[in-house]
Amino acid sequence: MEHKWKTIIEPFKIKSVEPLGFTTREERLKLLEQAHYNLFNIRAEKVLIDLLTDSGTGAMSAAQWGGIMTGDESYAGARSYYNFENEIKDLTGYREVIPVHQGRAAERILFSVIGGQGKYMVSNSHFDTTRANVEASGAAAIDFPASGALDFDKPGPFKGNMNTTALEKFISKTGAKNIPLCIMTVTNNSLGGQPVSMENLKSTQNICRKYGIPMFLDCARFAENAYFIKLREKGYSRTPVREIAQEMFELADGAMMSAKKDAFANMGGFLAMNNTEWSGKARQMLILTEGFNTYGGLAGRDLEAIAIGLREVLDENYLQYRIRSSAYLGEGLTRRGVPIVTPPGGHGIYVNAKKFLPHINPRNFPAQTLATALYLEGGIRGVEIGTLMFGRRDAKGNFLPASMELLRLAVPRRVYTQSHIDYVIEVFGCIAKNKKSLKGLEIVEAPKVLAHFSAKLRPVK
Ligand SMILES: *Cc1c(COP(=O)(O)O)cnc(C)c1O
Repeated sequence: MEHKWKTIIEPFKIKSVEPLGFTTREERLKLLEQAHYNLFNIRAEKVLIDLLTDSGTGAMSAAQWGGIMTGDESYAGARSYYNFENEIKDLTGYREVIPVHQGRAAERILFSVIGGQGKYMVSNSHFDTTRANVEASGAAAIDFPASGALDFDKPGPFKGNMNTTALEKFISKTGAKNIPLCIMTVTNNSLGGQPVSMENLKSTQNICRKYGIPMFLDCARFAENAYFIKLREKGYSRTPVREIAQEMFELADGAMMSAKKDAFANMGGFLAMNNTEWSGKARQMLILTEGFNTYGGLAGRDLEAIAIGLREVLDENYLQYRIRSSAYLGEGLTRRGVPIVTPPGGHGIYVNAKKFLPHINPRNFPAQTLATALYLEGGIRGVEIGTLMFGRRDAKGNFLPASMELLRLAVPRRVYTQSHIDYVIEVFGCIAKNKKSLKGLEIVEAPKVLAHFSAKLRPVK
């Protein structure tokens, strides 16, 4: 009988390596001061383990690198485009495929066609660039996260779901004619990479169909979502993940994708649908700002790498390893007394800094304090999702902290091994023991918009 081994291994061997940037604590203290305690200002070569994002940071396979060499760079009708189109058609079933240079280009093009003043886009949760592009068109972006999604300590199999009751209430109040689109983000990035169930996709689609509203997937992490369905939803444990993904796409009328996530590409994306009126208008926009229909701002080699990546990502050995490695990091942190958003999401772990550092006032940026401590002690870079990113001032100038103080540790695909993650866990263990010594940060200088990218900070005395 075949033995069921407990150890889940990295399902690849390493053919090409890149050295890590080792630094001393003393050097990192200097670098932090020079960077004004803002990790966006640190050069990547001075970061040992970079968990800033899983976007565009994955390792390509030997097959993808092979595709880079055979990419067809013809302006029109390149072979690589047809490989890309065929792969997306086979996966999604949508007839109209539009290549773009990354996810936000798909958003900008789509919302410039269907958005505008007085319109509402509804979603389980808009990702931040999606929201920004909806709003830039003049429309409003409304989220209906499942109840309990913001309770970080409460486990749940599908915390990325749409609150369908709230959705239907909103549609019947507002009227469907001003709601051009419902967007299901899978997995739900803004809410910790939590998955959406097939049942929830179906009930959302039923409501949309009843009111004549098309539903699109924001499918940057469609494969991770499909694998969670296989693991957690009744009736799917024996279904191949590719078929689960196809069923997800079949429930929707179209999709937009950042290929920098589940297509293992460093750059790229697409917009796909069946509606030829929308796709015709979208292609006109595409030619204006991205490029001709058969390359859309991408090189032929990028199209080739994406086509190959979209097939590779549905390998179940890969997905088992992927979902397990995030959970492994989460379990290690929990064991060392570091509170995280539960359950672990697909693409990383969100540390609850509000709970971890209750002695630091939100004015002094607990999550950013933790992010800088993590860099100082271990050369590890995460990203703050808290008051530095979302804090506001009201009309009277009163300070309004963000509702959450999270530190996101996003895990790049196929890049780090288990010992890298063990190291991250060890560093956190050390920080947990000495957390009382962390006092917080204060702003020296910050611009009004997107302050987190360029704010200057210093430790409080
Ligand atoms: C990354 C992402 C986007 C935007 O894609 P870019 O390639 O970064 O422009 C949109 N939606 C979701 C859910 C994402 O994760």
